[in-house]
Amino acid sequence: MRAAILHETGQDKLEVVDDVEPVGFGPGKVRIRIRATGLCHSDLSAMNGVLPQPAPFVPGHEGAGEILDVGDGVSGLAQGDRVLMCWLPACGSCPSCKRGQSHLCLAGFMNAGTPNFRRAGGDVFGFAGTGTFTEEVVVGAGCAVPIPDDLPYEIAALIGCGVTTGLGAALNTAKVEAASSVAVIGCGGVGISVIQGAKACGAAEIIAVDPVPARREAALRFGATEAVAPEEFAGAKARITAGEGFDYVFEVVGKSATARTAYEMTRRGGTLCVVGAGAMDDTFQVNMFELFFDEKQILPSLYGGGDVLRSYERAIALWRAGRIDLEGLITHRVRLAEINEALDQMRAGTALRTCIEI
Ligand SMILES: [Zn+2]
Ligand SMILES: [Zn+2]
Repeated sequence: MRAAILHETGQDKLEVVDDVEPVGFGPGKVRIRIRATGLCHSDLSAMNGVLPQPAPFVPGHEGAGEILDVGDGVSGLAQGDRVLMCWLPACGSCPSCKRGQSHLCLAGFMNAGTPNFRRAGGDVFGFAGTGTFTEEVVVGAGCAVPIPDDLPYEIAALIGCGVTTGLGAALNTAKVEAASSVAVIGCGGVGISVIQGAKACGAAEIIAVDPVPARREAALRFGATEAVAPEEFAGAKARITAGEGFDYVFEVVGKSATARTAYEMTRRGGTLCVVGAGAMDDTFQVNMFELFFDEKQILPSLYGGGDVLRSYERAIALWRAGRIDLEGLITHRVRLAEINEALDQMRAGTALRTCIEI
């Protein structure tokens, strides 16, 4: 079967091959035919080594499809079920899961060192234990979450990562209050989802900050009240908040420099919510005086915070009610053979989400 593979970490192009087979099917597993997959920035971060991932691997972790086979011992799933892929499956029994913080469950990562695919040249891993830039994948049953019939695969795929991450940051982690002021740094698919989440929460001001004009225009379409380039951000803060700073600032880039800017743009007592996935050698610094004296809340948000399945349900409910626009997030469509064009579009910042047809 076909799949897009990164042979070595640090390479910037994927090779589309047709000699890959999924491996590992058995008890507790399901085999899924991928019907839609989105390209998420984390795929790039795994390719360039910012996020740890053994190679060679098939990128892609934002996917949806139908179940082809169900292994022994799997309950609640059947052949033909429409599902979205959860790359952070919850075990349901560890301390994090019992607290309702299933996004912190590490059980799914126990299999991260196990290959998901094989080809003549040897083992191939799947990014984050999934790997959706392919026709079929075998994953643990917890990675397959049934979706309602009215939810298209393309939209379901986005809910599997970017949408849940962004919406959840606003709804679950920061708990944006009505009438508050919000700034969002970084307006790709996740940043736009933060904006839509803040809007759903009733924020009065939502300032989008991004160096790419197309993304600023998109941010305005999705609910930002103003969109500025990074060099205009300080002026916007002075004008909109009388210099005090925003009630909430979301960092959706994953770099210490933008996180520091976000910290400074947050008002005293306000909330800095860190959504971007950054590198282990990039250190965010706050001095001990400002840390206690300004009482800014620093809240990281992983996969939207809170209960992952509940987050999916919320996203679906808001989409169905027309309160968020998910169709509009898909700005580009490519075939698997054109995957490298999709990577270039994401690097250039011209795509919110690219949907890849397998
Ligand atoms: Zn992602
Ligand atoms: Zn768990």
